[in-house]
Amino acid sequence: MIALDIQLFATADARWQEVCDKFIAGANYQFASYDLVVKPYPSRPNYRPMTIPQFAPVRDGYGEPEKLRLAAQKAYPSSRGIPVIFCYLSDGAGLTIQAGDNDANRTASWPSYILIDSRHRNPQNEVLAHELIHAAGYSGDTDKFGDIYLHDKDPSSIMRIIPPGGGSKIVSVEEKHAVSLRNSYFARPI
Ligand SMILES: [Zn+2]
Repeated sequence: MIALDIQLFATADARWQEVCDKFIAGANYQFASYDLVVKPYPSRPNYRPMTIPQFAPVRDGYGEPEKLRLAAQKAYPSSRGIPVIFCYLSDGAGLTIQAGDNDANRTASWPSYILIDSRHRNPQNEVLAHELIHAAGYSGDTDKFGDIYLHDKDPSSIMRIIPPGGGSKIVSVEEKHAVSLRNSYFARPI
C-alpha cells in the first residue's frame, strides 16, 4: 500500500467544507484498486485545513499561485506531502502548479502543488484525483501546453479534460496514472 500525503490549506473565503471530504473520498474511491490511499493532514473529518488569510480570486500565472504557496508555507512550515489549497480560482475547478512554472512561481522553485476551487461541483468528485495525477508529473496524449502533453484523449479516462460540470461519462484511473502517483514526491510506502 502507498500513501499519498496531502497537506490541506484553505483561504478565508473558500467554502472548503462543501468539497474537501467529497473530493478526498472520490480520490480514494478511484485509487483503491491500485493500493493507493490519500492521507490528509490535518486529518479529516476531525480537524480543519490550515487557514490562509486571503480573500479574492486567484488567477493562473502572474505570480498569483505562488502568493498562496508562500502563505501556506507561513501558515504551516512543516507541511507533509503535497500542499492542496482550497481557494477561489478565477477560472476552472482545479489547477496544478508544476515545478518550474515561472509564470505561477516568481521567486522560488516549489515542488508541484494544487489549488482547488471550492465552489465547483463535480458529480464524480474527481477533481482532487485528477489534479494529484497532474502533480505526479503524468504525461497524457493530448492538450498541448507548451511542450507538455497533459491529458488523455480517451473520454473515459480520469485524465481527460474535465468538461464544465464534470460531464456524464463515468471515468476511471488506469495503471499508467497509478505508476505516476507511485513515483511522485508525495508517495510513501505504508
Ligand atoms: Zn487536467
